[in-house]
Amino acid sequence: MSPGAASGAPRPAPMLRYLIVDILLPLLVFALLRSFFRSLFQTRRDVTRQPPPPSAPNVVVGGELKKDPVCGTYVSTGASVTRTVDGQVLYFCSKECRDKYRAA
Ligand SMILES: [Zn+2]
Repeated sequence: MSPGAASGAPRPAPMLRYLIVDILLPLLVFALLRSFFRSLFQTRRDVTRQPPPPSAPNVVVGGELKKDPVCGTYVSTGASVTRTVDGQVLYFCSKECRDKYRAA
C-alpha cells in the first residue's frame, strides 16, 4: 500500500481505543458476569429443587374411597362433599349429587 492513499487513518485513533476500553470491555465483562450469574442461579435452582410441600390441602394421603349413593362414583373421603344423614356420614362427588340426595 502506498503511504499517500492511507492518509486518513493508518492506525486506530485514540478515540477508537477509548471506545473499545470504555464500552466494549465493560459490555464483555457484563456479559460474562451475566452468564456467570445465570449459571449460578440455574445450579442453585437445581440444588434447591425439593419435593413438593408435605401436604397440599386438596390431596388427602390415605383417604378412604366412599361410594357416592347418587351416581355411584367412588370419591375420596377428603375430597368429597359430605353430609350426615341419621348419624351416618355420606360422601358425594359433588354438591349437585348431595342436593339430589336431599331432594330424593
Ligand atoms: Zn355423584
